[in-house]
Amino acid sequence: MAAGPGGLALLHASAGAPCCPHGPALLFVRTSQGKEEGRRFYACSACRDRKDCNFFQWEDEKVSQTRLAAREEYNRSHQAPCTHRQNVERYKNFVLLPLSKRRFCQECQQLLLPTEWEEHSGHQFLYDISIAQLKSPSQLLYPLENKKTNAQYLFADRSCQFLLDLIISLGFRRVLSVGTPRLHELIQSKASQEENFRVRSLLLDIDFRYSQFYTEDEFCHYNMFNHYFFGGEAAHETCRKFLHQDKDERVIMVTDPPFGGLVEALASSFKKLMAMWKDTEKGGNKNQEMPMFWIFPYFFESRILEFFPSFSMMDYQVDYDNHALYKHGKTGRRQSPVRIFTNLPPNVIVLPAEEGYRFCAICQRYVSAGNHHCEICNSCTSKDGRRWKHCALCKKCVKPSWFHCNKCNCCALENHTCEKTDVGCFVCGKAGHKRSTCPSLSHTGASHKTGRKQRQKTLKRVKLGVWKSWAMKRAVFSRRKTKKKKRDVTT
Ligand code: SAH
Ligand code: ZN
Ligand code: ZN
Ligand code: ZN
Ligand code: ZN
Repeated sequence: MAAGPGGLALLHASAGAPCCPHGPALLFVRTSQGKEEGRRFYACSACRDRKDCNFFQWEDEKVSQTRLAAREEYNRSHQAPCTHRQNVERYKNFVLLPLSKRRFCQECQQLLLPTEWEEHSGHQFLYDISIAQLKSPSQLLYPLENKKTNAQYLFADRSCQFLLDLIISLGFRRVLSVGTPRLHELIQSKASQEENFRVRSLLLDIDFRYSQFYTEDEFCHYNMFNHYFFGGEAAHETCRKFLHQDKDERVIMVTDPPFGGLVEALASSFKKLMAMWKDTEKGGNKNQEMPMFWIFPYFFESRILEFFPSFSMMDYQVDYDNHALYKHGKTGRRQSPVRIFTNLPPNVIVLPAEEGYRFCAICQRYVSAGNHHCEICNSCTSKDGRRWKHCALCKKCVKPSWFHCNKCNCCALENHTCEKTDVGCFVCGKAGHKRSTCPSLSHTGASHKTGRKQRQKTLKRVKLGVWKSWAMKRAVFSRRKTKKKKRDVTT
């Protein structure tokens, strides 16, 4: 499913979309130069790699009864080999075993009961699994980072602890952790160790391995690209109950989705979770939105604001453990592009002074050390933490490495190729520029006022170079891993 220069667009599927093992499929169309091209088709919502799920169906395709039956059978047989309930029972038995009999199969990523050892002979085991290890499944399980489907990038302790401290200081007592197993784990282990710790968490994640460690009240197998609960109505109800806040138990949702680019699909699911929260409110907070932290790279700012105009981007740089790129550091190492987007007022999101963040009284938010308030823009304009400079011709601040190019009539890297980009931009799909100079990025506020029609159109049908952007991201990652000195093309 290679995307051509135009990319792919995600369309609003009507009810009755066909299902793959990952729930209802999403409706796509190939595009070129901003126009739909060819037949619309359904594809898996969760997997960006055909190897993980090869579901495909033309929108107007007639599917025979025999094929439908075969598909249902296929979907059934591709569910997890055991249920969440069974895994909970297994866990109960597992913790009763003496330490010397607690084994974890690394190949199958599974806790083993003694009767199962034989089946796994020849596999690599971890031995003497302690209670502490069981309480940190994200350390025990290997991150599914090479699988495009999961793209598990785990928070560094520094960032995870910061998030939790922030949540507590803001007065929240319940956290809906959507694709944040490590935050969930931190909360769970504190709750079991510290008597006065009152925060609770429910993890929603597509990684079913976690069902081995958490009960049905602590984990729901969930697909955030189509708001699908694999556990059916019961799991739905668990989530609904969790979102129902008592007087002193305010809820916040924290999510850190894969950066593959299906922003529109994510936004639509998150709106459904917000609606669930709202429905549980009898009277009270009718006009409010469920508080949320959406953790995502800064270059998606305008896309996120399109769907959630009440959100703003914080300067805090979120760091990851298993991500060579996105680690904290000053000299040499690159700064993380991942930020927190939130609908809470920016001035209450206090960022750590010991990491150089400071409060800008004019912007009424905490900004990174290098982010200087520009008098002309009247805003702290840096997105990446470095000091940006104002370009009078572009009438905005730009990256420090950029210069104004008279041919292109905008700022760009000094060695850029003028107007000669034949490959379309992977953000908006248009030809003539690349992601780094995309007009739809880093313009918020005033410059957002593009024609109403145009905006309406983009809301309905947002272009996504999903596969392409993913491929590019992967390429950037692996390139950096091998050749640390090469600089990112976009800086
Ligand atoms: N930084 C987070 C992990 C983020 S990685 C932490 O440390 O807690 C992205 C997470 O989203 C992974 O846990 C992955 O399993 C989950 N995920 C990926 N695709 C998903 C989907 N379609 N639905 C729900 N969760 C998904
Ligand atoms: Zn699928
Ligand atoms: Zn400012
Ligand atoms: Zn400026
Ligand atoms: Zn300029």
